[in-house]
Amino acid sequence: MVRDSIRVEYPAWVEKGVDWQRRYATDEEKMGLAIELSRLNVQHQTGEPFGAAVFRSDSGQLVAVGMSQVALGHNSVLHAEVVAIMMAEQRLQVYNLRVAGQPHELISSCDPCAMCLGATHWSAVTRLVCGAAREDAQRIGFDEGPVFPESYTYLAERGVEIVRGVLREQASAVIQAYGTGGGLIHNLVKI
Ligand SMILES: [Zn+2]
Repeated sequence: MVRDSIRVEYPAWVEKGVDWQRRYATDEEKMGLAIELSRLNVQHQTGEPFGAAVFRSDSGQLVAVGMSQVALGHNSVLHAEVVAIMMAEQRLQVYNLRVAGQPHELISSCDPCAMCLGATHWSAVTRLVCGAAREDAQRIGFDEGPVFPESYTYLAERGVEIVRGVLREQASAVIQAYGTGGGLIHNLVKI
């Protein structure tokens, strides 16, 4: 009998690249970490130019980070946001972040794709903060899939505060550099 399993873990650079003790007060500080994760992920050749992090909203405590590991992990769903959410829930031993007892927020270096917006919904975070715009990712060929204005409205109507465009230029610069460098565009679908 074949017994399959999947292992998701942080690249080795996370140990030195992330300060778990620091408190993050502002959206800009939190986004700065997400962008740094996206940059380090490319620099260390462990994935695509996207970073994310989950924080406790009340204290600014960093709970988990995420980085795109699609190519490295042979896994089309290992986007930065999904990795951050999975790691946060694993660390807190909860099946979503609402049952953790405190409000949590997801910071992503780029507007989430269709899957990650879905994962954001199921994670029950109460805030979503985005950096680069979908157009910035599309410019080098990354597709977000079926994301519509209604997708954001749906989340907002269910109590998720959404902030977009935080440090957009810095976040986009990492993505553009990846494109200029000939990085793999994993979800480029030819029609
Ligand atoms: Zn995604």
